[in-house]
Amino acid sequence: AIDPALRATRTTCAYCGVGCGVLATPDGNGGAAISGDTEHPANFGRLCSKGSALGETLGLEGRLLHPMIRCSNGVMERVAWTDALDHVAHRFHHIIARDGPGAVAFYLSGQLLTEDYYVANKLMKGFIGSANVDTNSRLCMSSSVAGHKRAFGADTVPGCYEDLDEADLLVLTGSNAAWCHPVLFQRMLVNKQRRGARIVVIDPRRTDTAGDADLFLGLKPGTDTALFSGLLVYLADNGALDRDYIERYTAGFEDAMARARSIAGSTAATALATGLAEKDVAAFFQMFANTPRVVTLYSQGVNQSAQGTDKVNAILNCHLATGRIGKPGASPFSLTGQPNAMGGREVGGLANQLAAHMNFTPPDIDRVRRFWKAPRIATHEGLKAVQMFEAIARGEIKALWVMGTNPAVSLPDADAARAALGKLELFVVSENVRSNDTVNSGVHVLLPAQAWGEKSGTVTNSERRISRQRAFLTPPGETKPDWWIVGEVAKRLGFGAAFNFNSAADVFREHAALSAFENGGSRDFDVGALSSLSDEAFDAMAPVQWPIRAGEAPRPRLFADGRFFSNDHKARFIAPEVPVLRTETTAARPLRLNTGRIRDQWHTMTRTGASPRLGQHLPEPFVEIHPDDALKSGVTDDSFARITTDYGQCILKVVVSERQQRGMLFAPIHWSEETASDARVGALVAPFTDPYSGQPENKATPASIVPY
Ligand code: SF4
Repeated sequence: AIDPALRATRTTCAYCGVGCGVLATPDGNGGAAISGDTEHPANFGRLCSKGSALGETLGLEGRLLHPMIRCSNGVMERVAWTDALDHVAHRFHHIIARDGPGAVAFYLSGQLLTEDYYVANKLMKGFIGSANVDTNSRLCMSSSVAGHKRAFGADTVPGCYEDLDEADLLVLTGSNAAWCHPVLFQRMLVNKQRRGARIVVIDPRRTDTAGDADLFLGLKPGTDTALFSGLLVYLADNGALDRDYIERYTAGFEDAMARARSIAGSTAATALATGLAEKDVAAFFQMFANTPRVVTLYSQGVNQSAQGTDKVNAILNCHLATGRIGKPGASPFSLTGQPNAMGGREVGGLANQLAAHMNFTPPDIDRVRRFWKAPRIATHEGLKAVQMFEAIARGEIKALWVMGTNPAVSLPDADAARAALGKLELFVVSENVRSNDTVNSGVHVLLPAQAWGEKSGTVTNSERRISRQRAFLTPPGETKPDWWIVGEVAKRLGFGAAFNFNSAADVFREHAALSAFENGGSRDFDVGALSSLSDEAFDAMAPVQWPIRAGEAPRPRLFADGRFFSNDHKARFIAPEVPVLRTETTAARPLRLNTGRIRDQWHTMTRTGASPRLGQHLPEPFVEIHPDDALKSGVTDDSFARITTDYGQCILKVVVSERQQRGMLFAPIHWSEETASDARVGALVAPFTDPYSGQPENKATPASIVPY
């Protein structure tokens, strides 16, 4: 007989927002064989290098297995769960009573499950009475959230992955999908091979994605809005607008059109503004104008900008103006970075949203208050990630609970973020690992959380598809689910009746019920039909896209009927600001530093760093520079160089490459004090943020480079 513990478990990949289905077969010794799930509609059995190597990352070396508290002698000592939870609750209670709810904050992660996010958000916004709950998703896709809300009336991704199979033109802007969303990019390449779809890549770097493009537009950094404004003008001047669609389903076209003309009134003006050859701009404009089935995919290159929201809206304007939305093979498409950035935003993981995509408006506040029976509900937005850490540095936030993320590495101006952590009166971290840069920044309480393969719940991918992450390993040591840890603290704060969850299924049912509570089917996000799932049905739940309303057929695409989520059901054109970078280069800082990912590492490498195979791809931190800039700066290929910005400096290996445009440097984000002490690139990044989304500009910090 087969040992049931050794049977394959269907789960979802721990990494990117593609959300691939994974089959994990435990080996009985704490490891597991990993393969792609052929029945999961995100990947149909494919996995990328990172997903395939998940089995190599399951070891317990470096794991945090027991709660720990810093004692009066400064040493972290193992304590019982009850003592750790009592201590956290007691200290939070004391600080809230003394300084008010605004003096405490949670900083969450797109790695958390939806159930973890839901409980943390409910405690802070509903019962502590502060909206200081933000997430590392702020650094990832919040400009897309803000852009969607402005255009569609809600944070909604209109398309689905089938659109990538059915499009005739795939435009990738600010996305190195070949490395960052590999399984989806493979899907696009299959479309190119089988159906002849063309691919346009828009990026200051000639990435691997650009290597497969029919047309590569290596634009100047920060000029995406000029390119898409020029496209809108071209569409208008060449009879390519869908006037009927604009008239019936949208508002604000004339203002947006006038602004587009002032930004980039012709193909020649667009070429000038973007630094592109006019013939290449013209080729792109003609392709877009003449191809009804076009999907425009955008990711961190668009989002991570002090004008990221305007960039998103400049793209959405072109799709709305041609009616290319809600139709097979025709959609704008935000590629989310993390495995559960979408699930987190669905339950209010962002400081400017409440829960179930509801806003801080009186009717929404009242609705959530009554549903949660939460007399102290927060009534206004909280601090977004960068602002939150600035408030910690000023001493205004005195207690912080970080869950599953490493802000001492990943936040912009990361040295300042790390220094801020040292000022906290109470600094709690829920983690899988005993040591990382954040933990090593003066943590007071360490709480051992269950990791991928041990925890159970749901995640939502880039096409709004909710999938189960299922446990297939016995949780090691005293590790616990994040939702349980937060719930236990809530009970100790006196909110027990509202946190009486016994399982992830319990949490999911409540979250599903809230999504449907008094919304009359008018909301974008509704999974209410799942609110009465039995435990068994939750366990067996197949991947499903929201909205999921009782008695309604699934809708892979939204807005097919031209009805949007604004009060008048019309989409909005937005007139973007004139594109301009927040910073100037100078004689002392003549280059601009762009940061991003590499193919085989994830975030700060706490998981991927455990796989020797993944380490072979690009084994050490580096900076990429154009040959002309290398010559001017006196640095040579394979040597070491010091990169300096107004915020910090790093020592990195030099890679001289024509992939890089003149005037730009590129350095990956993954290394930390733990893994390469001089290569913490977040310390170099300027902390300027977008006024709508709060997302920082990680792609264009003025920098200098000298031989080391
Ligand atoms: Fe995991 Fe993303 Fe790779 Fe799929 S594409 S296997 S979700 S990292």
